[in-house]
Parts: sequence; C-alpha cells; structure tokens
Amino acid sequence: LSASRVAMQPDGSRLIKFFFGEELPFVSHGSGVFVYDADGRRYLDGCSGAVTANLGHADPEILQVMAEQAERITFAHRGTFHSEQSEKLAERLGAMTGYPYVFLCNSGSEAVETALRLTLQYWRERGEPDRARFLSHAVSYHGATLGGLSLSGHPQRRWVAEALLHGFNELIPPYAYRFAEGRDDAAFTAFLTKRAAEALDSHGSGAAGVVVEPVGGAAGGAITPPDGYLPALAELCRERGLPLIADEVMTGLGRTGTMLASQHWDVRPDLVVLGKGMGAGYTPVSAVLVSEHVVDAIAAGTASVTNGHTYGGNPLGSAVALAVLEAVESRNLVANAAERGKQLRAGLEELAARHEVIGEVRGLGLLQGLELVSDPVTRSPGDPVGSLTRSAVLAARERGLLVYPATGGINDAILVAPPLTVTAEETDLLLALLDDALSAMSQ
Ligand code: PMP
Repeated sequence: LSASRVAMQPDGSRLIKFFFGEELPFVSHGSGVFVYDADGRRYLDGCSGAVTANLGHADPEILQVMAEQAERITFAHRGTFHSEQSEKLAERLGAMTGYPYVFLCNSGSEAVETALRLTLQYWRERGEPDRARFLSHAVSYHGATLGGLSLSGHPQRRWVAEALLHGFNELIPPYAYRFAEGRDDAAFTAFLTKRAAEALDSHGSGAAGVVVEPVGGAAGGAITPPDGYLPALAELCRERGLPLIADEVMTGLGRTGTMLASQHWDVRPDLVVLGKGMGAGYTPVSAVLVSEHVVDAIAAGTASVTNGHTYGGNPLGSAVALAVLEAVESRNLVANAAERGKQLRAGLEELAARHEVIGEVRGLGLLQGLELVSDPVTRSPGDPVGSLTRSAVLAARERGLLVYPATGGINDAILVAPPLTVTAEETDLLLALLDDALSAMSQ
C-alpha cells in the first residue's frame, strides 16, 4: 500500500476498515447482551456481533477457562503434539451432534474450504478425480476465500475476485418471497427440486457435492426453505452418491432452536461446517463434522496433511470452544433459543403489521430476518439496493440496538439474532428499540 492510498481513507487511519459512509464508534467493553462504546453509550447486541457471540459478552466462566489455559499453554502445533483440549473438544462436539469425526479450523471460511477439500479427496481416493463441481444456491454466503466465494451467491462480495471464481452458485435459492412466483410451499419445493436435479445431472460425472445453508444468513436474511426442500435435496444427493455439505457456520450449535438447523427437517448431511458460535466471540475456531463413510474413503492421516492451517486445533482455542459447548449444554441454551425465538418472532410479526417497510419476517429460533421493501405491493428493495438495510442498521444503532445487515446486493434485509442467553425482558427491550428505529425510518 502506498502512503497516498492509505491517506485516502476517509478518516486518515492507517487501518483498512469498514466504512458505511459515517464513523463507527470505538468499542469499549461488553457484558451479557450489552456492548458499550468508548463514549459510554450502551447497545443491546441484537445480532450477537455477527451472529457469533452466542453466550453474550464477558461471560465469567469462559474468561476463567481462557485465563487458566493461557497460563498453561496457548499454542502447540498439532503436527508436533496431540492436545487433550482438542481431543476433548472433538469428543464433545461429536456427542452433541452425532458425528463420529471432527476436523478443527479457525474461521468459517477455512472450514468451508476444508469441507470442499475433504470431499475432493474423497472422490480422488475413490478413483473419480474429475468430480470437482460443487453446487450451491444463487443467494448464499459461504465465505470470503476463493472456494467459499465460488459457492456464494453474493454479488457484493464476488465481483472483485470473479476472474478466479467458479460459478458454483447455480441452484435456485429456496427464497419464496422472491422466487416462488405464486407457487405454494409444495409446488415451490417441487420446482426447486426439479431444477436442482437438472443442474446436478447436467454436470454428469463432474458433480462433486451440494453445499447448502439450511437457513440462509448473510446474503439474504434468514432465508428459510419450504419444509420439503432440504429432505428432497438430501435425497437427490443420496440417489447420486454425492455428499451433502451443510454450511451451519451461522445456524449451528443451537442458534435456530435445535443443535443443528438440519435437524428441523430430519436431514443428516454427510459433512457439516461449524464456526461463529463455536468460539462465541471468545476465540477464532471452527470445525468440519465428518461422517464415517467419508473418513473411511480417505487414507489414514492424510487429511491433516492436506488440510492443516497453522492455528487449527490450538490448545487455547480448543479449551475455550469446549467451555462454550459446555455452557450451551449446561445452561439449556438450545431450548432457550427455541423459547425466546418464539417470543422474538411474535414480536417481529407484530412490528411487521405496523411497519410497511417490513416485507416479510422469516427465520427459525433466534435467527430471524426482516426483508425490507420500499413498496410492500411491488416488493421493491431500496433504491439503490442496500439503502434500506443501511438506514435500518443506523437507525437501530442510534437508539442503542445492533442488528446485522444481510444484503448481498440483491435485496434489503437485516438479521435479528441476539445471544442464545437472551432473557424475556431483554427480548422485549430489543423489540421496543427496533419499533422505534423502524418508526424513524418512515419519517
Ligand atoms: N458460511 C456462513 C454460512 C457464514 O455465515 C459465514 C460468515 N458470515 C461464513 C461461512 C464465513 O465465516 P468466516 O467469516 O468466519 O470466515
């Protein structure tokens, strides 16, 4: 970076950072569902940072584990040592989700890439190295790396790297508000399934697998498929012997009111990608859960050689993630997400009845989305697309509420996804602040 380019940053900072056209506050500290800025303003974290801080902020139990582990050892490379912390973490993750094998990584994107590579290795070892075509949905987000971005239906993120990307994102998204075109759930499911089958078959012996967010997150705002779709997609994969990979980076570990979102439809993907809530904001950590038959096809020991990232499975991250998982279990947070999710959903529906800017409320558990429209009849997004998202995020922030912008450039939407620890009173406060913010938008 030349000095002049750095100086061209609007606030003169050397740090390359997010700009939405106005200054962001500096963060100071957090406590439970609240975050405080350097000026002492309090914000209710209505989106868990980036649907990440599932236990809320500064949880004393997690901080204690973190301190104790940090004093013992923070880093030992997994090519040199086994660690009790990563063994226990894999054990616990397996017990909570029902998967026999776990590969540890550091970010959602890395884990998505790892799932792709494990699947590619699976096909190579089975003597079909040409199977390299993954299919994903045209509105989706699977990560910022080139594989994850190749899967992502997210124009705002894709354009810069397009020359190096695969157009994997060719499946019609299960996004009824814009793609059902008058079909009811059953007809929409049949339509999506038929088109997915055609897409898979058009790639013949080049198809490698299907990647899906059970509930779409960052690219469109809690896009929730019609009930028949995920089981039908799983069946299409099973018939063709293709691995189904669920990207549960956002939805996994309780967020939607079940341990994995796939469980809402009794679907058991061959691989599951976890991130975000696994470290809950306390450490960067992520994982791929792998079924027996995938691991069985891969020569013993080689998966770690083909997939290692330096920090993956480090003792500090593993100890912290283990403490997070224990808290999710011992505090019944999956059940709380389901319970508070109902309250949140009812409150959002009530807001939708009064605020024309809300085109649709959708989602599961504590992953709720609001589609924002400039006209509820034509369902037009903001002009330009993204402008309604931005004003909603800013109006909420001015009132001390954080919500997540969930537009990939084709619609306007926000995610409302507070920590899984949220109480009934805090949920009411969130709804009241959001009500105020939406009122301000229409003025
Ligand atoms: N997959 C999904 C479903 C996500 O929501 C995200 C992050 N928004 C990612 C992958 C990428 O995760 P990370 O930002 O940790 O790399």
